[in-house]
Amino acid sequence: MELTVKNKITWCPGCTNFAILESFKQAVNELVVENKLKVENLVCGAGIGCHGKMVDYLNLNSFCGLHGRIIPTMTGVKLANPALTVVAFTGDGDSLSEGMEHFIHAAKKNSDIKLFLHNNQVFALTTGQFTATSPKGFKGRTTPEGSTEEPLIPLALSLTAGATFVARTYALKIKETKEIMKQAMEHKGFALVEIIQPCITFDDTSEFFNNNLEWLDKTYDKYNYQNALQTLTMSGSKAKCGIFYQINKLTFEEQI
Ligand code: SF4
Repeated sequence: MELTVKNKITWCPGCTNFAILESFKQAVNELVVENKLKVENLVCGAGIGCHGKMVDYLNLNSFCGLHGRIIPTMTGVKLANPALTVVAFTGDGDSLSEGMEHFIHAAKKNSDIKLFLHNNQVFALTTGQFTATSPKGFKGRTTPEGSTEEPLIPLALSLTAGATFVARTYALKIKETKEIMKQAMEHKGFALVEIIQPCITFDDTSEFFNNNLEWLDKTYDKYNYQNALQTLTMSGSKAKCGIFYQINKLTFEEQI
């Protein structure tokens, strides 16, 4: 069975979510061809936000959760049937402003779910309020004078909480995003993939990210925790992308 797009897509024309949808479709279909996955054994969930429509558009087993609650929901799916591959789509508003406790604890437990975080640094579905990852100075509906807060670094948070696969990619890099999604879905344990996803309607950062990405080079050691933490927290003008950290460890489901 092949993963295909169904239903009319209602994202804004040109939304970078289209690219994420394409990357995910390609990632799943390649894993199917490689005999590493069956679409029938894949379950996807999504929270609330523009990202949440991902699961509406694909012909797969899926579920839409309450705001900020897709992580425990999908952990429950994995517990009920450990043979399934479980993917949760979420957004910065959904899991970092609403569901932060679940975000931290899923990493701490090393729950065997894959979290694909669409980070557009804004509440887009509700038309432009700042989130926990909005840059300092962000001007939106609730911060007309500019946000006074420093943004969270979701990958560093997840790494220090215990995540065993931590990666970042950029929505408009379809091939690179597909490859990272494939590796995350093959990983045993909690995998976080942050996907920088400019919202072209309420916070169009695409020009900056199109010109300021930096991929981890081939010599980067992804098995070194201290190195990963240092790389994720060092300041710099470029957005670093790639797989920062990956280790093998017993999953939550294997331990109970
Ligand atoms: Fe995409 Fe932003 Fe439109 Fe939502 S509001 S569909 S994130 S462009």
